[in-house]
Amino acid sequence: MRKTYFTPGPAELFPTVEKHYKDAFELQLGSISHRSQSFRDIYKHTTEQLRILMNIPETHGIFFTGSATEIWERLIQNTVEHESFHLVNGSFSKKFYDFSVELNKYAHKLEKPFGEGFDNAEIVVPEYAELICATANETSSGVQMRPAEIHKLKRANKDKFICVDMVSSAPHPDLDFNTVDSAMFSVQKSFGMPAGLGCWIVNPAMLEKAERMKTHENQVGTYHSLPSLFKNFAKYETPETPNILGIYVLGKVAEDMNAIGIDTIRKQTEKKAKMLYEFADKSDFLEVFVKNPEHRSQTVVVVNVKEKSAVNIIKQVQNDVNMVIGSGYGDFKDTQLRIANFPAVSLGQVEKLIEALRKV
Ligand SMILES: *Cc1c(COP(=O)(O)O)cnc(C)c1O
Repeated sequence: MRKTYFTPGPAELFPTVEKHYKDAFELQLGSISHRSQSFRDIYKHTTEQLRILMNIPETHGIFFTGSATEIWERLIQNTVEHESFHLVNGSFSKKFYDFSVELNKYAHKLEKPFGEGFDNAEIVVPEYAELICATANETSSGVQMRPAEIHKLKRANKDKFICVDMVSSAPHPDLDFNTVDSAMFSVQKSFGMPAGLGCWIVNPAMLEKAERMKTHENQVGTYHSLPSLFKNFAKYETPETPNILGIYVLGKVAEDMNAIGIDTIRKQTEKKAKMLYEFADKSDFLEVFVKNPEHRSQTVVVVNVKEKSAVNIIKQVQNDVNMVIGSGYGDFKDTQLRIANFPAVSLGQVEKLIEALRKV
């Protein structure tokens, strides 16, 4: 019997993914050239569907990399000459900051305890920071930064770039891409696909800066620099031989999501999240980890486990209903559960999970 994965990535596959991969083999996409018209058509289709789904302007490049982790590095290499600024409240936002330090930038951070989030009003951006790094959904702690707060932060700091790590929530956050400069995600989280593809959305202002940096210091990297990515993108090509199957399937999944409608997907996500949070609130052995309701993630629900063992709960739910819940991150492995609430899991599956949790 098949399991249902409520793990925060890799995660349950979106229901149509298997068929799209089968079609991809039927179409022999594993053998086509990435310099062929067939590939250019695939790349174009995928970007068209993502533009509709996430309301991305025509002016913005949409690029593919090996992972979102790679994009952290590329962003810093291509848009930060000296200083970056990071909102850190968990393992992923911390790693983003660490990359900037490792790349010899002067990296500033504003750090919050695990489980707490950021609002614009409390953020003071260092004067010389060139890039502000925000995380829409901190997967390790289940904390979100709401799009309205991210937009306010950019409006208050118009002379700086802002990029949004939306890896574990895209396409849920309704980001205004005329306001934020860049965002990234990888496909094995909220898009419900096998891992191995990062997606990077970038505006032309960032390209301009990267071009300047390339001319003056030539420190923007090699094949995945913004000048190289934009140049190839102009003809719907990629600098290297890319993950053609992944790019094809992402376009198909985005098309399927567009058929459902982004508003419906967002509403369903919020409804399922509400069910999970309400259940945890009422439960006598669970407790919602993130105290401020406005900072609670809509796509990764994190709960503390009281009295019982988190490891045993995960085992029991798997034995009883074949559903796999994520464990707490790092030091929280024994005391927390992380329940991914991505579009791939239905309302009915969430209800079934709640029933199973009720019985442990
Ligand atoms: C998973 C994750 C990443 C890293 O994604 P990879 O595909 O492993 O590179 C980055 N940021 C957040 C918030 C994540 O959840």
